[in-house]
Amino acid sequence: MLSADEVRALLTTFRPGPMPAPSTVAAWRQALAGCAFGACHAALTAFGPTKARYATPAEIVAAIHTAQAAKDARAAEVIPFPRDRVRPSRPTPPVDYARAGARGIERVYAAMGWQRNPERAHAQRVPCPFCRAPSGTACRPLTRNRAGHTERRDASSLTHPSRLDRARAEHPDRGERL
Ligand SMILES: [Zn+2]
Repeated sequence: MLSADEVRALLTTFRPGPMPAPSTVAAWRQALAGCAFGACHAALTAFGPTKARYATPAEIVAAIHTAQAAKDARAAEVIPFPRDRVRPSRPTPPVDYARAGARGIERVYAAMGWQRNPERAHAQRVPCPFCRAPSGTACRPLTRNRAGHTERRDASSLTHPSRLDRARAEHPDRGERL
């Protein structure tokens, strides 16, 4: 609760005139119970001189509550950590496993001295436009894609024909490495 001196200070600061009567000071102390001096002073300052001069304790209390609510709302919006510290962890894309698998298969073929299907290796330089297999990975055994297109993998290269066409168009040099 504000002291009588604090109430007098508020009244004389914002209401020029004679010293307030003790009954007025007592009434204001009662009405502003629970409000801090600084908050009352800030509310009266925000009113501006004319409104502050005639403001009732109820208006001051209301203004303090409004200011507090706005402050709470701002605090609720504050992000607890700097944005660069809450960078979401990126899930490992499945393509990495697929590529690793493809590299493993490549090594097995090399170790065994087997010839890879050169058409297939060439096609894998580009992603498959049909089954969306990323470059470096084999075509999926898909015959109908989400767009409703139907395509069968080429029997010898196990690759969708549209991918073979795309690889030929984009890499006419026909490299045989992945
Ligand atoms: Zn494909």
